[in-house]
Amino acid sequence: MLETQVGPLTVQEWGLALIGISSLFTIGRFMFGGKKTAGSDNLAPASCLGCGWQGNVSKYHRTCPKCGNNITRLQRGDP
Ligand SMILES: [Zn+2]
Repeated sequence: MLETQVGPLTVQEWGLALIGISSLFTIGRFMFGGKKTAGSDNLAPASCLGCGWQGNVSKYHRTCPKCGNNITRLQRGDP
């Protein structure tokens, strides 16, 4: 059964190939996708509605560094 030829490979070889491909995807996601969460992740672009200041502010401290107005607007949308 496992030696049944399907295309260029047998069923057993297809199974091993699928395992290898899926593990490669897992490694690739770990290497290229894992770095995005590190660093200045809690900074977001914002603009002050009071004085018009624009820049990056922490998502947890929404106060304008220029006028102290706490009505800064996150341009990426509020969480
Ligand atoms: Zn301001």
